[in-house]
Amino acid sequence: MIVKQIWTGNNYRNFNYLIACGETGEALAIDPLDATKCLAAAREAGWDITQVLNTHEHHDHTGGNDAIVAATGAKILAHHKAGGKIAGMFRGLVAGDVVKVGKTVELEVMDTPGHTMCHVCLCSHTEQRALFSGDTLFNAGAGNCHNGGHPAELYRTFSEQLERLPDSTLVYPGHDYIENNLRFTLDREPDNASAQSLLEEVRGQDPSNALVSTLSLERRINTFFRLASPGVIARLRENFPDLDAHPDPRTVFLKLRELRNTW
Ligand SMILES: [Zn+2]
Repeated sequence: MIVKQIWTGNNYRNFNYLIACGETGEALAIDPLDATKCLAAAREAGWDITQVLNTHEHHDHTGGNDAIVAATGAKILAHHKAGGKIAGMFRGLVAGDVVKVGKTVELEVMDTPGHTMCHVCLCSHTEQRALFSGDTLFNAGAGNCHNGGHPAELYRTFSEQLERLPDSTLVYPGHDYIENNLRFTLDREPDNASAQSLLEEVRGQDPSNALVSTLSLERRINTFFRLASPGVIARLRENFPDLDAHPDPRTVFLKLRELRNTW
């Protein structure tokens, strides 16, 4: 499996992806907003884009579909409930489906509601797994729930699915928000040394050569995985004085999500 992360350079800071089979040169484009850059990258590598996968229905993830399909004839894949929201959808995906690319690549579909209710993540069947997380999980952050999402569903996705993936899993998110998100982590846990040193490392990084994190790193620097941290809870009780001294993780997650909206 070959992964090419494509930095769009737009205001929304989107990442697009090409995933290719090294044997056949077939490629899957994930959320190819910048069709021009995706097509150029495929051409340069000698790959044929045969499938497009939209992690969810928001325009900044689907806006390049038409141009990619016009240029390549690729088939569009997305969550099975996204059919009315994404034009020209060919295949509706459910949890556990496998998306094959060429002969060598298999990506397992995870149904991951929360950011929207039609959101999928993909997890590779490789020895070191790779998670394509769309707007569900960001580096050091979680997706918002403003446009068709539900925070309680997002919590379930984190606790029942993302939490269970192996530490070594590589994380490929839909946007480059790492700096801003690390500042939120440090606002919550000023003494989080891992977040401090990572912020130093990525401050001003070139997003076209971005750091790729792992779930092990996210567990140290992503507040939304740190719901039992005494520091996170103590600081949260400053914002929400009614919060119990030993709140359940769901409550912590929902309060953090609420706070992040205003931060
Ligand atoms: Zn979105």
